Amino acid sequence: LFRDYISGFPKETDMILSTSATIKLKVPEGSNSVLLKNLYLSCDPYMRCRMTQSDSYVAAFTPGSPITGYAVSEVLDSGNPNFEKGDYVWGFAGWEQYSLIKNPDPSSLRKINYTDVPLSYYTGILGMPGMTAYVGFNVLASPKKGESVYVSAASGAVGQIVGQFAKMMGCYVVGSAGSNEKVDLLKNKFGYDDAFNYKEEADLTATLERYFPKGIDIYFENVGGKMLEAVLPNMAVHGRIPVCGMISQYNLQKPDGVHNLTQPVLKRVRMEGFNVSDHFHLYPEFMELMKQYFKDEKLTYVEDMVEGLESAPAALIGLFTGQNIGKQVVKVAHE
Ligand code: NDP
Repeated sequence: LFRDYISGFPKETDMILSTSATIKLKVPEGSNSVLLKNLYLSCDPYMRCRMTQSDSYVAAFTPGSPITGYAVSEVLDSGNPNFEKGDYVWGFAGWEQYSLIKNPDPSSLRKINYTDVPLSYYTGILGMPGMTAYVGFNVLASPKKGESVYVSAASGAVGQIVGQFAKMMGCYVVGSAGSNEKVDLLKNKFGYDDAFNYKEEADLTATLERYFPKGIDIYFENVGGKMLEAVLPNMAVHGRIPVCGMISQYNLQKPDGVHNLTQPVLKRVRMEGFNVSDHFHLYPEFMELMKQYFKDEKLTYVEDMVEGLESAPAALIGLFTGQNIGKQVVKVAHE
């Protein structure tokens, strides 16, 4: 359960493990609901925004109620014509063993039809983070063969996929991450042309100049703050910055003041914030592409899987210290 609204960094104690009385594993007679057995829960940075009462685009969690988020689940019972017992689905569910979803609409709960990959992939590469990489990079950044691409938080759920999309597009791709183990993954698993540990660089602006002597055509922004400040003077003319997220800012009471904001004017750079939820009409075309990529063995994917609901709070807050190596998932039940 979510304990109460917070400020600053989230802590494990902001979430409470609670046991409720036995529940009936049936949907109420005559209802339109679906009863889910949750299998995998997704830990995502935006969930931090839901721990604060603010004007965020997603509703805040309710104190005393279960945390909610993306999950992969099995349908145990259904009064809804779109779902039947035995279906696997992904969408919004509670951080609980079983969730009763009232009147699910097809966009909040999606039936899983393609099962040639592990079901947990629907919390990541075939779910919201995969779509985020696709929308931010393939759609909004207008990439072209031969362009130079920089990705921050590059080994995470979204970043590892962006790097691979960029390589498939014929781009030169450099990523940064917060440990040498992650840098190794970037170079030797995800196919990045080069990578560096941003925590070991004293002067990020100079570092980026070294990797991109002719400038960055596309910066896939996951981090914000000092990282963005260092990127701006390194952008090439007519560069693009899809602003996916700014994780370095989510726990600050006051956002970092970013310098170098005249650079986009001088370089005619297009910075564009986006929210993946506005783009789910593209999900069918995304899935067709991904199925082909998996068939052709063009994609690789790393998950960081912990087991048990009791492990979920630490897994979620670990996103903000970079503990996750790859997509952070919590397995709560066997398929
Ligand atoms: P990740 O799997 O990449 O996990 C978060 C990572 O961010 C950590 O592992 C850590 O990696 C890095 N990080 C954490 N704190 C900081 C910090 N203070 N400074 C620099 N890096 C930090 O998460 P996702 O791939 O799920 O999300 C990546 C970004 O995309 C986030 O900003 C998220 O909010 C955004 N997002 C936006 C969406 C949209 O619709 N616009 C949808 C989904 C995600 P490291 O060790 O490398 O520091």
